[in-house]
Amino acid sequence: MTIHDYDVLVIGGGPAGSNAAWRTQNAGLRTLVVEKEAFPRFRIGESLLPHGNALLRETGVWPKLENAGFIEKYGASFLLSNGAASKEVVFSQAIVPGLDKTLQVDRARFDAILLDHAREAGAEVRTRTSVRSLSIEAEGHRATLETADGTVDVSARWIIDASGRDHLFPVELKRALDPSEQPRRVAIYNHFRGVSRALGKAAGNTVIVRLPDGWFWIIPIDAERTSVGFVTTAAAMRATRAEPADLFNRTVADSPALSQLMAGSAPVMDFHVTGDYSYFRQRLAAGRLVLVGDAGGFFDPIFSSGVYMAAYSAKLAAEMVVRAHRGKRALSPRECRRYSAHVKAHASVFKKLIASFYDNDSFAVFMCAQPPFTLGPAITAIVAGHATLTWPIRWRFYVFLLVCRLQRRFPLVPRIDFAGMETVAPQPVPAR
Ligand SMILES: Cc1cc2nc3c(=O)[nH]c(=O)nc-3n(C[C@H](O)[C@H](O)[C@H](O)COP(=O)(O)OP(=O)(O)OC[C@H]3O[C@@H](n4cnc5c(N)ncnc54)[C@H](O)[C@@H]3O)c2cc1C
Repeated sequence: MTIHDYDVLVIGGGPAGSNAAWRTQNAGLRTLVVEKEAFPRFRIGESLLPHGNALLRETGVWPKLENAGFIEKYGASFLLSNGAASKEVVFSQAIVPGLDKTLQVDRARFDAILLDHAREAGAEVRTRTSVRSLSIEAEGHRATLETADGTVDVSARWIIDASGRDHLFPVELKRALDPSEQPRRVAIYNHFRGVSRALGKAAGNTVIVRLPDGWFWIIPIDAERTSVGFVTTAAAMRATRAEPADLFNRTVADSPALSQLMAGSAPVMDFHVTGDYSYFRQRLAAGRLVLVGDAGGFFDPIFSSGVYMAAYSAKLAAEMVVRAHRGKRALSPRECRRYSAHVKAHASVFKKLIASFYDNDSFAVFMCAQPPFTLGPAITAIVAGHATLTWPIRWRFYVFLLVCRLQRRFPLVPRIDFAGMETVAPQPVPAR
């Protein structure tokens, strides 16, 4: 049998990579994590989901996160940008018990805690090291790693690709994408000091402010800083011909709800812009290679599913790799298909909820204070990340989707009047 330097090479030290690495190392597989950046490093995506807590408890990292002083999140507040309607989703009212709260995290610290946890479990971690190329060899892969000092080759029986959205190198498996059903969207974001917060438990809520053709997130990440981001379509952004920061500021100024929340606040860094973040690879595994987290796919930030999906796919992938490793074999085509289907089935629950958020009729059903047929507690469970559709959640979720469809023709709940609300492109500004 070929001798490899490592059993598992994990590419990327984000939540997907560090969760997968902890799990393979803990199962006795020699694991190397290669991360191109120095940690801690900035990342967007600060809001966790309560259903993901259990995955972090399984790896033993949860107490470290609880002791890190992150903000506690008990729910999410949704409001219209003109302030005309609002709704608070309180996780403790979910149909499933135990989803009461989670954390809002500064991702630089959160990701560093997770990566250190994998290191403490015995995984070797090399930061400031990029995987530059991969080649398949007997019963494994050879990878060329690049550091400031030059390149070095390592071999590993398994590759877990957790490299996020970067796609730094062309692996055949990574090219084909499922067709996207949503328009291309773009996010403009920053951290701010001085953003207003609610009192009491709701102070830790994610606040979502809905515009006719876009939305803002407002996520408290520590006592002073708040992550604020604006999501709109790439087409709407192009139409304004405005610089991202100008568009962001102008949209805040045009919205009574946002102006009030952001009054007196100041950004702490340059604005970031991310586009084209919605995609899913057609195949998520083959032979001795598995894609986890964003390397496999990501839909949309609205329901904060990214870190949860990263940890969930990492668990499934690590368990599959450990099983095959112990059986001294590569993944079977059936295992690869099942892994892809399993991850996508989970993600598709969020995908359906995301689609309903962007559809104005469905959004009216979502915003309704008392949705019909006691749908509320089931939708709350899914907003809390419970994408495992047990029967009590499943039937209510499908009734919710049906009510959303019916709402287009026969209003079952009061319609939201978007007329007169500001859009992102009211007055095109001159190009600079
Ligand atoms: C605008 C926006 C807002 C979001 N908001 C939320 C939110 O509120 N909540 C939430 O849960 N999710 C959110 N997400 C999604 C979330 O950010 C991601 O789903 C999550 O970070 C995925 O984790 P990951 O480990 O797969 O990838 P990442 O966190 O991106 O980590 C990948 C790592 O791989 C490293 N890497 C890449 N290429 C290489 C290479 N060749 N060699 C070595 N290392 C490499 C990178 O440096 C990086 O550290 C948001 C996403 C966007 C775009």
